[in-house]
Amino acid sequence: MSETAEKEAPIRAATRPQVPGRVIFNALKDTDKPQEYYNDIKQKFAEARDLRLSYRPDGRAQYTSELEGELAKYEIDPYAEANVDRAAITDTVEVLLIGGGFSALLTAARLRERGVESIRIVERGSDVGGTWYWNRYPGAACDVSAYDYMPLLDEMGYVPGHFYAKGPEIFAHCQAIARKYNLYDLAVFQTTVTSTVWDAKTKLWTVSTDRGDKMTAQFVICANGTLSKPKLSKIDGMETFEGHSFHTSRFDYKYCGTDLSNLKDKVVGIIGTGASAVQIIPRVGRAAKELYVFQRTPSAIDIRDDTPTDPEWAASLQPGWQEERLAKHMKGPQISEEDKAALAALPRDEKIRRQENQNIEHMMRIHRRVEEIVKDSKTAEALKPWYMHRCKRPCYDDEYLPAFNLPNVHLVDTDGKGVTQIGPRGVIFEGREYPVDVLIYATGFEVQVTGIYNDIRGENGLELNEKYADGMRTVFGIHSAGYPNLFIMGGYQASFQFNLTFMLRTQGAHIAECIKYVRERNCATIDASPETEQWWVDEVIRHRGRTNRNKECTPGYYNFEGEENRRQDGNYNGGFYQYFLHMEEVRKDMEKHFRFA
Ligand code: NDP
Repeated sequence: MSETAEKEAPIRAATRPQVPGRVIFNALKDTDKPQEYYNDIKQKFAEARDLRLSYRPDGRAQYTSELEGELAKYEIDPYAEANVDRAAITDTVEVLLIGGGFSALLTAARLRERGVESIRIVERGSDVGGTWYWNRYPGAACDVSAYDYMPLLDEMGYVPGHFYAKGPEIFAHCQAIARKYNLYDLAVFQTTVTSTVWDAKTKLWTVSTDRGDKMTAQFVICANGTLSKPKLSKIDGMETFEGHSFHTSRFDYKYCGTDLSNLKDKVVGIIGTGASAVQIIPRVGRAAKELYVFQRTPSAIDIRDDTPTDPEWAASLQPGWQEERLAKHMKGPQISEEDKAALAALPRDEKIRRQENQNIEHMMRIHRRVEEIVKDSKTAEALKPWYMHRCKRPCYDDEYLPAFNLPNVHLVDTDGKGVTQIGPRGVIFEGREYPVDVLIYATGFEVQVTGIYNDIRGENGLELNEKYADGMRTVFGIHSAGYPNLFIMGGYQASFQFNLTFMLRTQGAHIAECIKYVRERNCATIDASPETEQWWVDEVIRHRGRTNRNKECTPGYYNFEGEENRRQDGNYNGGFYQYFLHMEEVRKDMEKHFRFA
């Protein structure tokens, strides 16, 4: 770290974009190259997408997250010290949270502030932390500024050590939140919820688990994470591999060594080049004898430029600083009346053209960065992403691209095809075998629609996915009529935020307000009114599909792997601030929007 960079830290911490993924393409500005230049690149984007889709037209079915039988080992918790034996639980709590990650912690904190005492977290791992419990792979860190991503900083009296927080710091923060709000008292770990069934007589949910528990709760909050169930690409012969293998979210330090030193005489293969792989590859590349990276689609790698938090800046922060920062961010960039009028006067096609051209300029800057860093020109070419910004999750990393200059790190570019065959010794691609000692699957996670491990049955015994058979039906992605006192966090029909904790805290505060209302109203249940549910479904539909963006993007989990999707089965795209305002409006007239009993 240069002296200059350190000196810059206080100014930059305050003024750097809070969320780097939020590159703004301003339709009031035009680009300066001839339109043919942009059209040619768009054509190349389309060709790359078509090629990738031609190999895997099966969309989401190309993956499996049913990790049973031979595949069960990919889900085993490597961090649990021992499988704690305990008696089955049959008691009743007021609020039960399925999952112990940020969704649960944030909501529980808000519930505590509103006087709720009886709160139980039921968690599959052996501690709280969710994503940050599971994803302990080398280099795990967050791509959103720590001052915005790490929640409850004011409440916890904590200022992160760097602009970007690393996994262990965030995990420790989760544990500190659980301690501060006494969430360990009733928590049960190493426990997976198997069903959540409403009892209309007692007006309670019965939550059954793989430990034989039959717990009851007045309110249930599905806080099981957006991307929490590991998935594997279905690859012929993967079960015949005789070496060692694991998924990134179950990183095997027993095998690799805590400092990865056991890898020094090992040949490692890694399948996938998404955000997890981007952070792992430089570390494993430095430690392993050889590393083969099997790439299907390259990630876009932008500058990270992490800086330590300046102690003077940290000391100058006033109470409420994080809240203020987030509130500013929520409203987004303010535009003048004059600019608003100019934008309104611009034809829609022209707006799209200008924004797309700027997007292409941005991606070409990403290409130039690859060329400047990666010495081997063939490798550099293969690492260039051919799609628009935000078709896939953008990455921010200063070590990934240089890793390909190491003599022991080899990129095996499959040019959109992906790995389709694994044998006893390793990956086989286009007739060549790549023998490896260990294979790391960096193939991502199933996207949550509702409580994914869970069979949720509401009034009339209808399972939630059956209700959704003709399309999702919720209010804010949180409530679904016929499922009283049930709240879902992080699923579809909610607003999407690159800074996910920001979205989750908004949902958590809303849920806490709903529960408070039920308590103060002296009734037992709250359920969405069918009319409000219809309004929200319409609202989600109204804001989806305004452009061809999803169709034109290369496949990935952002666009359902290229599958056609019902318009209502996705995120609410009307903007985060609007999502927040809608919630406020609904809460002003609870009797109209909810049924109470
Ligand atoms: P992703 O779903 O993003 O990536 C999966 C990768 O596996 C893709 O590169 C995919 O290629 C590849 N793949 C799948 N099947 C094959 C195959 N048969 N052969 C070769 N490659 C294959 O998962 P990640 O775990 O990387 O990330 C998930 C999300 O978690 C991120 O999008 C982000 O939201 C979050 N995250 C955030 C981090 C951060 O803040 N820094 C770090 C890590 C994760 P293709 O692209 O062609 O489908």
